[in-house]
Amino acid sequence: MNSKNSLKTSIGYGFFFGLLGLLLMYFSIQATDTVRVDLRHLAILFIGFYGGIPATIVTTVIIAGSRFFFGFTEAAYVAVALSLLLGGCVILLAKYAQIDSIKVKMFFGNIIGMLFVTIALYITISDEALRQEILLFYWPFGIIAGLLAVKVFIDMQEANRLFHFYKESAEVDFLTGLNNVRQFDYYLNIFTTRFKEKHESLSILVIDIDHFKKVNDTYGHDAGDEVLKQLGAILNETSRDMDIVSRNGGEEFSILLPNCRLTQATAVGERIRKRVENNTFVLPDNQPLHITVSIGASSLTKQDVVIKDFLKRADVALYEAKESGRNKLCIAQ
Ligand code: GH3
Ligand code: MG
Ligand code: MG
Repeated sequence: MNSKNSLKTSIGYGFFFGLLGLLLMYFSIQATDTVRVDLRHLAILFIGFYGGIPATIVTTVIIAGSRFFFGFTEAAYVAVALSLLLGGCVILLAKYAQIDSIKVKMFFGNIIGMLFVTIALYITISDEALRQEILLFYWPFGIIAGLLAVKVFIDMQEANRLFHFYKESAEVDFLTGLNNVRQFDYYLNIFTTRFKEKHESLSILVIDIDHFKKVNDTYGHDAGDEVLKQLGAILNETSRDMDIVSRNGGEEFSILLPNCRLTQATAVGERIRKRVENNTFVLPDNQPLHITVSIGASSLTKQDVVIKDFLKRADVALYEAKESGRNKLCIAQ
């Protein structure tokens, strides 16, 4: 995601939490004609912790500004000033407070928010008995509601984080960050459907490191892993954005090239072969290493009854490349 996109997302979250704040305000308790007691500070608390500065500014401005819908009263001005102040405090608390537990940090954030509300009550209500009546209700209610809201919110965050983690684990090869076999299959399906329905060409390059076992045996498994990573980066750099670069297992990689005929795919493969041949790989102990790859190329044709035929031809071409001396690209006949 680029920074423009992330700013857009952040502002989107800011709006969302601003609306949440308005909802909390809507379900508020009308204490007097001009004073309402509510939990809108929780929306500021959550966005301050998770949304970053732009999102917090948006949420705070929405919540603070909307207070004027109830009239330009002294209570409204006080509420606006305190909302803005709270936004700032929450950001500072989230960023700089030396407390490890996020739940404890948010608990303190809730207390700070409630203190601000209490200050607002002291400024806007002069009737001591009424003030005490409100506060007696507000503090236990606010603390319990805050604890519950923080727990639900953090659990949701954790569920969301786990979802993204498992989704990524299901799609990405952990070592190289390339697509894994499952994603390879997913895109293969999409591209073959396009081949059938839109007559869009599809080619594949299967790439296998030459004598990789020797790299592991000579320099160790970690060094081998490092070579796999660096090769993955080269394959990514050398292919187009729309190409699907995958690690299909061990030291075998593939590139699916949609909308690409065999001659063009061969040119890409040849570029990769030369690039790898001329590249200096750097091992974890900074030793330089040179490796080569063998490549098999094929294109999907109308004669391919099943998709496996197309993949098999690429494998046969790769085998030929190995058999005829390695560091070669062979094209499926
Ligand atoms: P060829 O030129 O015929 O392809 O020879 P090769 O040695 O590259 O092929 P072979 O299939 O004999 O050996 C592949 C090696 O790849 C064996 C295995 O230890 C290594 N390997 C597979 N997966 C990984 C991995 O994730 N990390 C590391 N470091 N090595 C791996
Ligand atoms: Mg190999
Ligand atoms: Mg192999």
